[in-house]
Amino acid sequence: MRIAGQVSIDDIPKICPLLSRTANPQYGEHGTRVVNVAGVRFGGERPVVIGGPCAVESHAQTVGLAHAVKRAGADMLRGGAYKPRTSPHDFQGSGLEGLCILGIARAETGLPIVTEVMDPRMVAEVSEVADMLQVGSRNMHNYSLLAEVGRARKPILLKRGMSASLCEWLGAAEYIAKQGNMDIVLCERGIRGFPSGEYSRYVLDLNVIPAARMLTFLPIVVDPSHATGVSAMVEPASRAALEMGSHGLLIEVADLTFGEPKCDGLQAIDAATLARIVLFAHEKRGARSQEVVCHAERSEASAVTP
Ligand code: PEP
Ligand code: MN
Repeated sequence: MRIAGQVSIDDIPKICPLLSRTANPQYGEHGTRVVNVAGVRFGGERPVVIGGPCAVESHAQTVGLAHAVKRAGADMLRGGAYKPRTSPHDFQGSGLEGLCILGIARAETGLPIVTEVMDPRMVAEVSEVADMLQVGSRNMHNYSLLAEVGRARKPILLKRGMSASLCEWLGAAEYIAKQGNMDIVLCERGIRGFPSGEYSRYVLDLNVIPAARMLTFLPIVVDPSHATGVSAMVEPASRAALEMGSHGLLIEVADLTFGEPKCDGLQAIDAATLARIVLFAHEKRGARSQEVVCHAERSEASAVTP
């Protein structure tokens, strides 16, 4: 039986002529496109670790955490100034003031910033501070936002929709690429499955890492914080993700001396745990570098500057 709209991974070359390995063979069977974010290389010699608060809440909290994240050895700072919350009555982020605080954190620590943009009308404003624009799980299907960030001259962190298939996720990435922006990093952040909510927030789909790497040359990272929703699970999930071939990690960090976080406190780790994860990620360098060396030349030669 043939069903309207039904797709499988065999259709990826048709859905993604720009991003599929077979339709666009410039990276060969195994090469990864290196996405450079202010000197931080996703898909490069070693995994990238991004740490920071769920939300930018105050100058002291975000700048304090930025210094802690830097001391832990992480490569970039995360933090949402605009938060997509389940209830419109909950804290929605600190908006423009939050962006300003992120700018200060960047200036003080030198850490490049990734922060979420939720609204196509805000892309230009967020781009003034962000080194990388995050499209959140809830907005992965927002095609006008995808096109708008595709027109921005910034690398994009594209989270997987919590119920999105791999075809839908790569199709969303193709919307960005179609506008001329090929600097896209995929981020697996957990999907809905039958045990979601019983012992963890979502189901961390580790299998999607090698699957995505087979189908596209884009780098892929994992967010073990939203995937598990449990701080004690974040470190082992990070190790597992790296073992499965993740090019990096996006991790929520909190410091209770700045008060209980306004969102996602239960999944936040402390800076000491982040430092252990960074060490583990750096040990992966040896294993990864061999793989990268084989393909670096091709990746670098064909990297398209947007
Ligand atoms: C986040 O990383 O801040 C976030 C809201 O995550 P997600 O879009 O994956 O839920
Ligand atoms: Mn969060």
